[in-house]
Amino acid sequence: MIQNLNLLQTPEYQQKLNQCIHCGLCLQACPTYLVFGTEMDAPRGRIALMRAVSDGRVGLGDFQQSISPHINLCLACRSCETACPSGVRYGELVETARLLVESNRKPGWAERTLRKLGLDGLMPYPGRLKFMARLLKIYQVVGLQALVRRLNILPGPLKTMEGILPPIQPQYTPEAPPLNSNEPTRRILFFTGCIQEAFLAPVNRATERVLHRNGFRVVAPSEQTCCGAAHLHLGDLESARSLARQNIDAFLAECRDGEMIVTNAGGCGLSLKEYHHLLSDDPEYAERARQFASRVRDVSEILATDIIESPRGQVTARVTYADSCHLRHGQKVVRQPRDLLRSIPGVEYVDLAFPDQCCGSAGVYNIAQNETAEVILQAKLEDIRASGAQILVTTNTGCHMQLMSGVRRAGLPIKVMHLVELLDLAYANEN
Ligand code: SF4
Ligand code: SF4
Repeated sequence: MIQNLNLLQTPEYQQKLNQCIHCGLCLQACPTYLVFGTEMDAPRGRIALMRAVSDGRVGLGDFQQSISPHINLCLACRSCETACPSGVRYGELVETARLLVESNRKPGWAERTLRKLGLDGLMPYPGRLKFMARLLKIYQVVGLQALVRRLNILPGPLKTMEGILPPIQPQYTPEAPPLNSNEPTRRILFFTGCIQEAFLAPVNRATERVLHRNGFRVVAPSEQTCCGAAHLHLGDLESARSLARQNIDAFLAECRDGEMIVTNAGGCGLSLKEYHHLLSDDPEYAERARQFASRVRDVSEILATDIIESPRGQVTARVTYADSCHLRHGQKVVRQPRDLLRSIPGVEYVDLAFPDQCCGSAGVYNIAQNETAEVILQAKLEDIRASGAQILVTTNTGCHMQLMSGVRRAGLPIKVMHLVELLDLAYANEN
């Protein structure tokens, strides 16, 4: 649907803009300001640009030509929200501005085809994604991947997408064994994620084992689908809302009193926790979305409060942690993953010098804004290298794939793992 400038001219939007007091405390927290050093590529400058649209000082043509490049360069990492003393909800501001940019843009045929295939043809369908992952597994094991990478023959976005492909292990069968009669029978509903389940399935299997070990019966509703974050970021509001409704129906049909919905991906988790904003004007779903969102927890939030037994097995390694921006700045989950890592015997935990900085993944940013994403990634890798860590822990699908790719290409002797994989390893080492 084509959107017009009115989208940024509502009293609610203007009220959110007016919360900015121009103090500039967000500037040094912003990855794109650190790269470009320009006001227009910092949160305060972007807010000033949005205000110019909101006040009617800029027309649609100028918006698309002069302002949209600065909006597109924003990672929506929300680091500025954490730094802001005035409580500016920058994420909501930029999401609306992006809808305006995207709905008035005419992508070329290659981008249209990729979007149609990815957003409409694959991400909402877990079965199709797994089928594709199995084909890519063959591509990896027969040596085609090594050849393609050696010859460097893929063009721009395809090369980036191929480069972040992790080694695929199609472990698609849930592994939580049935509880015996002595064990607690608390249920927890598992949001498995579309890309996570297809391309990083071992993370989901480890999540099931670790939750089971801590007394949860893990149930993954079969009708669940993609969270819709990528659709929203690319301006496809209606698809994002439709996916949200499907997830709400799938999970609320299963949820009993007090049961939580758990996710292990920071980006998906934030999107699920914000379904009540996405559907606030939907009379049929607004209240159901609020109920759904109130039950969502990151796996580290669940384990940090509900862990029955900390792992006793040793993992002797120096470990660091790359926060998922959407977990840290969006969900404000900072302490829990660190506490869990410190609870593992043998782990020498070391924080990064700049733990609040993005890795450049940011949904599809590493594909759409590849050059900037690469500069941001290199700064992150330098920080990781300086930590001296042997294991790098992440808590989000996109960060996991981006950092695996970065570490591999930089030739760093560092293993990238999800938090639950490390906990799972520590439990396994008890035997
Ligand atoms: S969301 Fe991230 S990239 Fe965008 S303005 Fe805020 S800090 Fe900068
Ligand atoms: S820190 Fe907040 S109030 Fe200050 S300039 Fe940035 S967005 Fe505006």
